[in-house]
Amino acid sequence: MRKTIIAGNWKMNMTPSQASVLASEIVAKNSDPKCEVVICVPFVDIFEAKKAIEGSKIHLGAQNVHFAEKGAYTGEISASMLLECGVEYVIIGHSERRQYFAETDETVNKRLTAALAAGLKVILCVGETEAQRDAGETFSLIEKQIKAAYAGVSAEKALDIVIAYEPVWAIGTGRTATSEQAEEVCAFIRGEVAKLYDANIASETTIQYGGSMNAKNAAELLAMENIDGGLIGGASLKSDDFTVIINAAE
Ligand code: PEP
Repeated sequence: MRKTIIAGNWKMNMTPSQASVLASEIVAKNSDPKCEVVICVPFVDIFEAKKAIEGSKIHLGAQNVHFAEKGAYTGEISASMLLECGVEYVIIGHSERRQYFAETDETVNKRLTAALAAGLKVILCVGETEAQRDAGETFSLIEKQIKAAYAGVSAEKALDIVIAYEPVWAIGTGRTATSEQAEEVCAFIRGEVAKLYDANIASETTIQYGGSMNAKNAAELLAMENIDGGLIGGASLKSDDFTVIINAAE
């Protein structure tokens, strides 16, 4: 049975003291969540967030990782550094990184393989822009992103990857994909994983939807057969809203 996972992507929000408060609120409101809950925090918040979630059922994630083990990469953070800080998940290939930080399918694959090799679990983001959707390129683009990201990944390690389908036009815009649109692409993604590996691995893979998911629309999206959770930006910064979404996933 694949896991349902609700992950918060805090992006570049929350100072360490604010992170401590928000993580503590999430812990207090979710003592026994029926799905896996992850908070993906800025690097500088890792220690405070870790302290706040200690002994709880909340899991810790980061938002990026470098692909080298160590060395002259000023400003970067390696997978082993994250692991030693208690990080379990890392978001890779978020559209904001693809858009603003020159992330490519190739660097996504390099980061992903480095993260998996070190023992991290990966939340791999894929998704089309509005122009690509309008041009009828959604499925070919997602196929290309998935194939490139999984290149060289063993079947065993593939099970450590969660895929987040995030249409770029829905991220931070308040324009959520309809549950039918999201389900159609998530089902397609599962088919792609089956083509790369087998039906078993595909059926074990958690596929999230992300893009303006909120307390109001979460239940409908999460009820779809191939949507096994959510990657949530804005609404993950409010513990009440995030908790409603977590409860909707039960
Ligand atoms: C995200 O950052 O991954 C995201 C989905 O953001 P939002 O929920 O704010 O659209």
